Amino acid sequence: MNNKDIFFTPKIISDYFIELTQKAHPSGGEDPLRQWVIKKVSAIQNKYTDNRGKVQVKFYHPEAKEPDERIIFLQRKGANLYADKLPVILQAHLDMVAVPGEKIFPLKLDKYTENNITWLRALKDLAHPEKGGTTLGADDGIGVATILSVLEEETLQDMPLECLFTVQEETDMASARNFDVNLLTGSKFINLDAADLKVIIYGSAGGCASVYKRKVACRESMESSQIFRISVSGLKSGHSGADINKGRQNAIKIITDILVRLNGRINRIDAAGRINSYDLLLHTINRTDRVVQNSIPAEAQAVVSVPVAQADNFVEDINKLLDLTRAANMPVEDQFSASVRVADSKELPMTAACTDSVLLLLKQLPHGVISMIPARPGLVETSTNLFDVVICDGELQIRSFNRSSNIEALSCLNNIQMNMARCFGFEPTINIDHFPLWQPDDSSELLKIAKSVYQKIYGPEAEATVIHAGLECGWIIERCGTKVECISIGPTIQDLHSENERLQLEDNGINTIESYYHAVLKIILNSFTGAR
Ligand SMILES: [Zn+2]
Repeated sequence: MNNKDIFFTPKIISDYFIELTQKAHPSGGEDPLRQWVIKKVSAIQNKYTDNRGKVQVKFYHPEAKEPDERIIFLQRKGANLYADKLPVILQAHLDMVAVPGEKIFPLKLDKYTENNITWLRALKDLAHPEKGGTTLGADDGIGVATILSVLEEETLQDMPLECLFTVQEETDMASARNFDVNLLTGSKFINLDAADLKVIIYGSAGGCASVYKRKVACRESMESSQIFRISVSGLKSGHSGADINKGRQNAIKIITDILVRLNGRINRIDAAGRINSYDLLLHTINRTDRVVQNSIPAEAQAVVSVPVAQADNFVEDINKLLDLTRAANMPVEDQFSASVRVADSKELPMTAACTDSVLLLLKQLPHGVISMIPARPGLVETSTNLFDVVICDGELQIRSFNRSSNIEALSCLNNIQMNMARCFGFEPTINIDHFPLWQPDDSSELLKIAKSVYQKIYGPEAEATVIHAGLECGWIIERCGTKVECISIGPTIQDLHSENERLQLEDNGINTIESYYHAVLKIILNSFTGAR
């Protein structure tokens, strides 16, 4: 593959980034990239003959298997004026989400311009853009490339730095949550994993998954009934934090709403008299796209049965409800697709009581935004993503993922869900796989330095904010306490984790990677000089 014609500037970041996209680095499979980073660090070491600017590998275990031992940690001592200063810490994660699969490497890069904005993306086949793209891994390959570039910066050579490369950020943050934090001696921590050029992040929501389980009670035989499979697909989905306030629908909720509406035991009255109700029994219900707590369900299906005599009307009514659902969710869900088909089922139907308890809990469990931050009306404070329903070994399991930047609001939501689950005969468990909240600190010196740099570069468009998603900084703050202050910054990357992921290179003639890199260098410099 020939990447020569698609570099951007600064050339140093471009070269590092393009080279790293040729190495496999999906979450959990970062070893080729880890080896590459070590090779690059030794090339940087060889550039300097004196100790000035000499970076040391403090932690690297090539054979390690555990995520906390697969980090790379580098240290560069200060020299001359900066010999006694505490280092600034730079951090990026080595892994990326590999979509549509782990065979996408080496990535095929493509630069294109649309509406005066130039982007870099990765394609499945460079000769056939219509076949679609793959993830680009600018999240967080650009962070990795930035750190290596900074180590080569002549103007910063006397300044002490610590560089932390983590793994598995995209799955469980297992290295950030378990690595030896005593390695860090600096107190100013710059995470290079943000995706909005003009925005400094200085706080993020915490989250936890909750699980509700019950034994499935089935009928002993199947009476003369007709079985149907109802499928919903084509929903926009998106990130369950960043996209939760965009009106995107949840496929599990859509199917539930329709089945509750048609269930004659729950819903006898139809004010408009247009939709009948049925002796409906549930066989199975499950999410059918990839089950991850970070994404809003785009696809789901249910298998149900109704008495044979009711079958014709049932199909007609379900199609009416699907049409109403489609119309109600335009234009956000313009790819919504649904079907109802006669089916077979190996599973016996659930009893009426079990069907009703499953459908009622799914109906009552909230999905989406719960509250906004009172002082910042545009920002989500608390939300929940009803992300999974599945039957396994005779047990039905429902899972929600809750986020909040207010610890009280998070536990209030957890309690509401637990009580609701108990009401419908489920056993709830909370606090599985939690990640900590990163409490914003407006008095942080590092934040003040960064804000002033951003204001000088971007003027009134510069912004400092908290986000409704989890970042590794949450673990750093949780584990290091107040002795470390954090910010997170990065260039603009859109549609992260999807086949449309793209990195912004130019915006109306302005080189955005250059302005991002300039900001990084300036924040590091001012952290040492105290200049604002
Ligand atoms: Zn990331």
